[in-house]
Amino acid sequence: MNMIFLGAPGAGKGTQAEVVCKELNIPAISTGNMLREAVANGTEVGLKAKAFMDAGDLVPDEIIIGILKDRIAQPDAKNGFILDGFPRTVAQAEALDSMGVQIDKVVEINVADEKITARMSGRRVCEKCGNSYHIEFKPTKVEGICDACGAKVVQRIDDKPETVQARLKTYHEKTAPLKDYYQSRGKLVTVEGQEEIADTSKLVLAAIKN
Ligand code: ADP
Ligand code: ZN
Repeated sequence: MNMIFLGAPGAGKGTQAEVVCKELNIPAISTGNMLREAVANGTEVGLKAKAFMDAGDLVPDEIIIGILKDRIAQPDAKNGFILDGFPRTVAQAEALDSMGVQIDKVVEINVADEKITARMSGRRVCEKCGNSYHIEFKPTKVEGICDACGAKVVQRIDDKPETVQARLKTYHEKTAPLKDYYQSRGKLVTVEGQEEIADTSKLVLAAIKN
């Protein structure tokens, strides 16, 4: 099963993708995590991507499409995958189509902008493995330390309030049109992501089983 998780920054795509990938035993592929890793390692892609990311803009399509194409060609993606944070533009969705990638379901996690702005300040991410946490809603077992790998959890540069506003604007302008794109192809399911993480997980798991 190939799925796309769609939603505004901070809607909880990454958290829900982690839940579903355990349940179905398929990888969750986060383009944001891959880009942050590239930035941390100082690769050529990382050097190109950093300024866009820090400003809350999208990385250019030609960069990200190449990365994604290589990633889904890996053996672990053979039996399906969850795309978390890709596609983010209609051009990226069309690129997936032209690669011949069949998408079974697009799960949109819907959260109001006001709620997102409030949530973001508490968000933390593991420096090493990219797992995401929240100081209030999904704390690490040991403060500041990733449950999964033991590395440090930190606040992302682009989780500052000003940058969050820029990211929301980018989402509404460039990514939200994908709802219509997949709706018209009969792939879109929308779940509410406003309440507790576990409530959303139940809705997501129900949505993908139908
Ligand atoms: P969030 O969903 O919380 O905004 P991500 O971790 O998915 O964050 O992405 C962080 C940043 O990485 C984005 O703001 C953007 O700059 C870049 N990025 C991630 N995925 C894509 C993509 N598919 N296309 C363009 N830029 C991307
Ligand atoms: Zn970790």
